[in-house]
Amino acid sequence: MFRSLKTRLALSHALPVLLFVALLGMILLYQLERVYFLDNLAIELAAQGAIMASFLREDPILWRSPDLAQYALEQLQERVTAQLMLVDASGRVIASTWFDNPLPAGAVADAPVVLAALQGDATWEVNANAGMADQVLDVAVPVSISTGRIVGVVRLGHSLEEIQRRVAPLRQLVWVTLGAGAALSMLLGWVLAQSLAAPLQRLATAVAGFTPTAPYEAVPETGPNEVRTLASAFNRLSARLVELERSRMLLLTGIVHELGRPLGAIKAAAQTIRNSPDHDLAVDLAAGIDHQVNQLRLQVEDLALLGEMELQDPVFVYEPVDIAALLEAQCAQFANAAADKQITLRCKPDPLLPLIQAAPKRLNQIMDNLLHNALKYTPPGGQVTVSARLAPPQDGGPPQIWVEVGDTGPGIAPDEQAHIFEFFYRSPAQRRIHQGMGIGLALARQLALRHGGDLSVTSTVGQGSTFTLRLPVRPAAAAVPEA
Ligand code: ADP
Repeated sequence: MFRSLKTRLALSHALPVLLFVALLGMILLYQLERVYFLDNLAIELAAQGAIMASFLREDPILWRSPDLAQYALEQLQERVTAQLMLVDASGRVIASTWFDNPLPAGAVADAPVVLAALQGDATWEVNANAGMADQVLDVAVPVSISTGRIVGVVRLGHSLEEIQRRVAPLRQLVWVTLGAGAALSMLLGWVLAQSLAAPLQRLATAVAGFTPTAPYEAVPETGPNEVRTLASAFNRLSARLVELERSRMLLLTGIVHELGRPLGAIKAAAQTIRNSPDHDLAVDLAAGIDHQVNQLRLQVEDLALLGEMELQDPVFVYEPVDIAALLEAQCAQFANAAADKQITLRCKPDPLLPLIQAAPKRLNQIMDNLLHNALKYTPPGGQVTVSARLAPPQDGGPPQIWVEVGDTGPGIAPDEQAHIFEFFYRSPAQRRIHQGMGIGLALARQLALRHGGDLSVTSTVGQGSTFTLRLPVRPAAAAVPEA
């Protein structure tokens, strides 16, 4: 029970109040009872005693006649609330109306207050008899004559029952306040705990029930700031996990599909070659196998690079690269594929381009993807153009080489242009064309960014697309360092 947040919070509110009010109540009651009421009563009794003493000292017969003294005391007793005792200079009781008269006339009164009064000091004390209700405030006042000699003592005793009675309602009030305060603070603590525990509980249920494959519903971000931050962090984390899981599934489906299809074609071609005596057919099929293997190589290289980029930062080896020569070589590689599809592939880079610091293997991967897409999405009879030129410095940066791959394909809708660079994005508009896994462009852009450049697209639906790869021209020393 004490493990729950609610109980702990309620107690943490109630306990200090309980302790504080109880302590305060006790101190207050003590001050009232012992200091305020008792002091006042003692002062009052001492004043009464002093008045009595001033009368008694004027009457020497009284001191010699116990009966007369007794009579006088009884008369006085009717006017005051205290019990009275008259003691002579030797400490013997002369007369007394003292509670139940425990000291008869002639007995020695040896109470400390009497002894002190005989020495000339008017003092008081509380005589703790049996039980608090029986306690007596005992005041003794010396009676001295004009020469200063002490002839006796007037002793006044007052039951403390009166004080107890006066303090009782206060005591009750303290206990009621204590109870009410505790109940109120428990209630407050419980309400606060509830407001804290409810969102936490919701969060705990969401965490326990979370599976990245199930449709995810965000946890409401309510409650205190810290809980809200926690809920928002959980929501972000869950969304990311769902996204990652979706990517994983897409990747898996993509791999099975992308690798399975050409493998099936290769196997079928290989079987035909084995069983067919037709040499020309075998040569054709071998060329087909070669093409399929090239496709596979491209996919596998993309996948390998994706894995490398996700798991570890791949090392890029930078060296001076003649970009025009690199583009010519790339175009030569894709010439057959273009011809097969009756696409005119033009390659016209500016031959006077400066060398750039780049990782040629990675630039080839970018160009592979761009050219592969251009040929894939452009219908037969279309054109693919590769160009490269030096662009002036922009925003204070170094000059750039802009490599453009233009095609006369279907184009990309404006709202899709930003998404095609996301991993696993495949345009729904191109479903009729056999799309890939949706990682080529995303990887190509990552590689361009790693070179300190960028990759972007401009496109008009129905007319074609132009992908622009921007690469900075930097001196060798200022090239992007190896990762
Ligand atoms: P994929 O392997 O599916 O081609 P990419 O990352 O290379 O993956 O491309 C992402 C998406 O961008 C493609 O599915 C396609 O819809 C679109 N796309 C890429 N290149 C072109 C292009 N030259 N013309 C039209 N659409 C393109």
